[in-house]
Amino acid sequence: MADAEGAFTYNGGRVDPGETQNLRYSISETYLGDPVRVPVTIVNGEEPGPTMFLSAAAHGDELNGIEVVREVAQEWEHRNLHGTLVCLPVLNVLGFLAQQRYLPVYDRDLNRSFPGKPGSTSAKRVAHQLFQNFIEPCDFGLDFHTSTRGRSNMLHVRGDMDDQGTARLARSFGANVILDSQGPTGTLRREASEAGVPTITIEMGEAHRFQRRFIDAALDGVASVMAEYGLHPAEPVNWPGWRTVIEKGEKTWLRADAGGLVETHYEQGDLVEAGEVVCSITNPFKTDSVDVEAPFTGLLVGVLENPVVYPGNPICHLVELGEEIQRAYLRNRTGTMPERPS
Ligand SMILES: [Zn+2]
Repeated sequence: MADAEGAFTYNGGRVDPGETQNLRYSISETYLGDPVRVPVTIVNGEEPGPTMFLSAAAHGDELNGIEVVREVAQEWEHRNLHGTLVCLPVLNVLGFLAQQRYLPVYDRDLNRSFPGKPGSTSAKRVAHQLFQNFIEPCDFGLDFHTSTRGRSNMLHVRGDMDDQGTARLARSFGANVILDSQGPTGTLRREASEAGVPTITIEMGEAHRFQRRFIDAALDGVASVMAEYGLHPAEPVNWPGWRTVIEKGEKTWLRADAGGLVETHYEQGDLVEAGEVVCSITNPFKTDSVDVEAPFTGLLVGVLENPVVYPGNPICHLVELGEEIQRAYLRNRTGTMPERPS
């Protein structure tokens, strides 16, 4: 949302059309009383259009999205930009500095603290500063995450497909898999969507890494969204070859029923058939092994990377694929891409 002259304004600043600003915005203070400043790049295009935010590292150790947001902000050509980009590569600055998921203060989850509240806990104050200045003024947004430490996700989108604006955004990103859910209370995507700023989460890869193939795929997704909403009107919108929207009953976590060391037989993004052994849990002597079977034919959207488990620990995140989607998946793997359905 821009003011009458097309400027993007936030507390203490404005960015006029045709202008780009790299700024460090104070959102809290350290024990030493120094400012905690979040890096923000605002690119206001010459031409009018929608305002989109791109955010990453709401969990401080989830790094892939940081590179996506930085490349869009700093390396993409924006001479023909219609609208404004609000780029927030590191939302959770304190978590990022400590290279941990949570805010170090009482281990609070910043991504359960939105939309925040002034005069409340430190997490909610930080969330409020971010939300009020850089999220609410936008028309829609993309929030980048990775799997939690020790696991890895295939690139997929999460969003509330019952919300029309969010569903359009989710589809336009052009990922194969969309997990349909509102998201927990306090997550950026849920609270922003409820505040009228449709927002999706993009999950990709693992924590503590820059993984080029995920970053490149996500950049294609960002370009596709910008095409769909006319920010870069000349670009084409992505068709990923096949797509499935997964509802609640069609996904499950396979959990360990024994403690031990896990030997996985598949990677994230692989298709496994019902009854196939996805992984085996072995004892230290390799004399005993418990197989974990797929309860239905589906796609492994998330898998364990750190191979140690207690009983009850999640091992794989499996989503069900119908037969038609299975065929499309296999054709895509062999390079014979299915046509976009009309
Ligand atoms: Zn996350």
